[in-house]
Amino acid sequence: MFTCQVCGANDQDARTLKLSCNYELSEISSKFQKEPDGLWSIRTCKDCRGNFLAILQYWVEGNLAESSSHPDRNIPVHVHGRTVMMNTKEWEAHTARRGETGRRPHRLG
Ligand SMILES: [Zn+2]
Repeated sequence: MFTCQVCGANDQDARTLKLSCNYELSEISSKFQKEPDGLWSIRTCKDCRGNFLAILQYWVEGNLAESSSHPDRNIPVHVHGRTVMMNTKEWEAHTARRGETGRRPHRLG
């Protein structure tokens, strides 16, 4: 049993993410720990690893650059296993298609 360093959930199915990107990841969060081999690590639950992979996919596909060029797209939405940034109009259409009315979006920034 361990505690996920991202969400705090207690889980027995630990994942250790190891990263190297020539950046001191401790500047992003003190949750990253530098390993003797120079890699940065963080222990997560399976769900948080899935979220990390979704964000990584979103970035690799060039969507972060697209989002930054559309600052009104500040609502992250999980769609088909990945995170998509939507503006208010897109979010309202998305929730209406899903029959989810009356919800308030969680905005970034
Ligand atoms: Zn977690």
